[in-house]
Amino acid sequence: MTPEETLGRALRDIVGGGNVLDDPEVTARYRRDWTGRFHGPPTPVVRPSSTEQVAATITYCRDREVGIVPQGGNTGLVGGSVPLAGEVVLSLDRLAGVESVTAHAGVLTAAAGTTIGDVQRAAREHGWDYGVDLASRDTATVGGTIATNACGTRAVRYGDTRHQVVGVEVVTGEGVTLSNLGGTLRDNTGYHLPSIVTGSEGTLGVVTRARLRLAASYSLRTTALLRFGSVGDAALAAESIRGLLPTVESVELFLADGLELVCAAFDLAPPFTETTGAYVLIEAADLRDPTVELSEVVGSLPGVVDVAVAEDDAARRRLWRYREEHTAAISTVGIPHKLDVAVPPGSLAELVERAPLLVSSIAPRARTWLFGHGGESALHINITGVDPDDDTVDDAVLRLVGELHGTISAEHGIGRAKARWIELAHGPAELQLLGRIKAAFDPSGIMNPGVLLPRTGWSADG
Ligand SMILES: Cc1cc2nc3c(=O)[nH]c(=O)nc-3n(C[C@H](O)[C@H](O)[C@H](O)COP(=O)(O)OP(=O)(O)OC[C@H]3O[C@@H](n4cnc5c(N)ncnc54)[C@H](O)[C@@H]3O)c2cc1C
Repeated sequence: MTPEETLGRALRDIVGGGNVLDDPEVTARYRRDWTGRFHGPPTPVVRPSSTEQVAATITYCRDREVGIVPQGGNTGLVGGSVPLAGEVVLSLDRLAGVESVTAHAGVLTAAAGTTIGDVQRAAREHGWDYGVDLASRDTATVGGTIATNACGTRAVRYGDTRHQVVGVEVVTGEGVTLSNLGGTLRDNTGYHLPSIVTGSEGTLGVVTRARLRLAASYSLRTTALLRFGSVGDAALAAESIRGLLPTVESVELFLADGLELVCAAFDLAPPFTETTGAYVLIEAADLRDPTVELSEVVGSLPGVVDVAVAEDDAARRRLWRYREEHTAAISTVGIPHKLDVAVPPGSLAELVERAPLLVSSIAPRARTWLFGHGGESALHINITGVDPDDDTVDDAVLRLVGELHGTISAEHGIGRAKARWIELAHGPAELQLLGRIKAAFDPSGIMNPGVLLPRTGWSADG
């Protein structure tokens, strides 16, 4: 038997015959990322249905130093969820479902493969909501959002995924199952396992279940789309809203060319007659109608030239499409280089103005698309018209972000796409410590090799 046949047989013994996929046509969607930029060679996809099967798979692979790429919904945007070097894909798609909701206190336990949409629906059935929301909600999973510490459009009010996770069950790269799903909402007993695992991008182990804090459900919502004459006014307004509007839930920024692209890609009518300038979308939610409060705040913002307000669901969804369809619309132009950065408040307008100029000075035929979570000075910089393997523009933009004292990831994580710039985020002593944490969880280095920490960037010896 070849080593591949031996591996396939062993995995089948663990998860059952039909749950190891190896037909290259069937596994193609597990090997290619959402952007189409990253794809790997044919490799087995193993689909465990229990924590025990996850642990047995990891233990088998650990003993033979076979790399594993955990995969949830495969909506990650930094190439972390696909096997580029023939690793085994460990898909969580059979380990799904909301297991329990503590209705009076707002705590939910779910298996890792449950989609965020299903978590939201279960929460709403019990009079609650979930604080994390993102356009990929019906595919992105609990495990994937924990692994990437997903932020999304409500983080300005509820914080990122790390703020929602009160307990995790995780199988480490050593094959050991750790669980603190016991039940408390607070735990202050030292190193906090959920916090360590959140944002670890599958490099420490596989999240199998999680306990999530739910958010209060605010049934009355109002959305406003504001057009500003200048990026400076739009950025300043976006950064100020949190302090002006206590009921604010989302503050999103986008620009005229992105809006035009979305309208063209999805055949939407533009929101205003004039389309130049910069846009801020604000959503407020409360138990009482927040429209008056929102309108007063909008009226106090300098530089607003057009306003559209939506109160009913259909009208709100129409306004949201202008922002949420950016990711999909940009993909119709070409395979984008995706950078998700943040700068300190006060520097957002400078970044918006300098990034496209910098890109066109390096790649004159490239297009730079800017949008993001303006309320937290976080910006998605998408660049099309550049070869997928040429990262000269990525390098220049990330160094510009560094010059502005920003961070190279504020949303999607590091993955493989940004591992080579990890030194811009962490100094040598910090990187060595991160390597030791990795080695403590995954001494054989089988978990998502090359993601987050470059293959040479860590060692079990520190
Ligand atoms: C249209 C669109 C909109 C998006 N909007 C946002 C947004 O607003 N905010 C945001 O933060 N992201 C956004 N994303 C990116 C993406 O949806 C998130 O990164 C999400 O958290 C990924 O979840 P997933 O289940 O698809 O994970 P995957 O893509 O499958 O995996 C992502 C990473 O997590 C690891 N992983 C997955 N499951 C597990 C597990 N159970 N245990 C350990 N590691 C695991 C993988 O190995 C990989 O490194 C968007 C993506 C799309 C396509």
